[in-house]
Amino acid sequence: MKILVLNAGSSSQKSCLYEIQPHTDLSTPLEPLWEASIDWTVNDEYGLLKVFANDQKRKIDLPLENKGDGILIMLETITHGHTKVLSSLEEIDIIGHRIVHGGRNYSQSCIITPEVEQAIQDLIPLAPNHHPAHLEGIRAIARTLPHTPQVAVFDTAFHSKIPPEAKVYPIPYEWYEKGIQRYGFHGISHEYVSQRAGKILGKPLEDLKIISCHLGNGSSITAIKNGHSIDTSMGFTPLEGLMMGTRCGSIDPAILLHLMDEYGYDKEQLNHLLNKESGLLGVSQVSADVRSIISAIANGNHQAQLALDIFVHRVKSVIGSMIPSLGGLDVLVFTAGIGENSPLVREQVCAGFSFLNLQLDLEHNNLKCLDQNIARPDSSVDVVVVKTQEDWAIALQTLPFCS
Ligand code: AMP
Repeated sequence: MKILVLNAGSSSQKSCLYEIQPHTDLSTPLEPLWEASIDWTVNDEYGLLKVFANDQKRKIDLPLENKGDGILIMLETITHGHTKVLSSLEEIDIIGHRIVHGGRNYSQSCIITPEVEQAIQDLIPLAPNHHPAHLEGIRAIARTLPHTPQVAVFDTAFHSKIPPEAKVYPIPYEWYEKGIQRYGFHGISHEYVSQRAGKILGKPLEDLKIISCHLGNGSSITAIKNGHSIDTSMGFTPLEGLMMGTRCGSIDPAILLHLMDEYGYDKEQLNHLLNKESGLLGVSQVSADVRSIISAIANGNHQAQLALDIFVHRVKSVIGSMIPSLGGLDVLVFTAGIGENSPLVREQVCAGFSFLNLQLDLEHNNLKCLDQNIARPDSSVDVVVVKTQEDWAIALQTLPFCS
């Protein structure tokens, strides 16, 4: 079975090809046969296509006018040149797409029919940066492989059953009826890493109270009970919740009114301020990247120290706020760029939960520890670092639709 995964965003397009045999062990992620990405942010005139297959790397500059055709040029490298792994694209059995927003109606993955495509179109107001790019990807593939089924895997779906008290905002109820609610994001990652943590620990998901910390450039935390998301920190949009690279996360909404009244800010300026100029970058004035912030701290930069302190404080606050709804905590999971790679952040976050007898093995935390439990044997809470593999998770969710 050959499954192509496409993650098409506004500034990048990523794709992977997996080959799954009937008896393949699916509990451990497979290496893709071929993978490629196009980054459209490298410079103003070119996108950079990078392809990796057969232990060979290829880099191609794509003129920006070609953005719409980028996906097809990327797919051509599956069947041509030294990254060729298939004789024909027709050998692909099915395509799985990451779709950011499923709205209220899509609580699980599904085959992309004309109705589903229309729903993705109708949800553009809730995901204006992503859904046009998703549709471009779906349509480009439909033109090339009109008879190959395509599957939508929604990033909101895992959170679709969070209970009303976590989902409904305390504003007049009519707004909930009009669709304003907590949707949550990073669901593909949170679902995958919680399942993987269960496997790593050798414990059934049904028995576990898990808090999953997806800490990357975008960050969110999810409480998972019996394998289901029961609360999550991102909300109506991916702006709510934790402090992020350039996003502010949760702030007093009256600050926006104040900026409008006293400083004349308009919608565009507020959007830019909250999404692009805030978070770790905004406070540190150094960088959105934790690595640069840690270097700046080493050089005595106080604002960088403050930015990291706020980040850690907010991660601890959100974890703490979710424990009562879970009724306890069995497993804390760290994933994504910061969660997987920063022993310092993991150590500082875990230190806040020593009152629960969460005991980190500090030595193990500082070693290579991907897909491992880094808690001490006498800890009451397991701490698992999991490499998030959203592409593999999409392939797994696409597989059941193969006929
Ligand atoms: P992601 O969005 O999951 O790709 O995560 C990207 C972020 O991970 C970067 O902006 C960094 O802040 C962080 N990151 C990546 N590598 C490291 C590292 N070795 N130490 C600390 N943070 C890291």
